[in-house]
Amino acid sequence: MMHHCSIDISNGVIRYARTPRRLDGLLKEAGTGRSLSGEEVLSRAYDLASKGYQAMPVGCDNFDAQGLCLGHEEAPQP
Ligand SMILES: [Zn+2]
Repeated sequence: MMHHCSIDISNGVIRYARTPRRLDGLLKEAGTGRSLSGEEVLSRAYDLASKGYQAMPVGCDNFDAQGLCLGHEEAPQP
């Protein structure tokens, strides 16, 4: 079961700044579902980091001012 829904910005994203292909598809654009390129993921990570976030929420609607997940009700099983 996957229960993390945020990515650590410094350890999970910015450490791959020199190898952005590793970040391809890590995030999807809200609304369209388009996979973001590594460069787009990085630019979002830098933007969030500049606002004081430590983590980048992924498909998470319950997070604090640092982007850390605050938990969820039991997720429905597929
Ligand atoms: Zn969450």
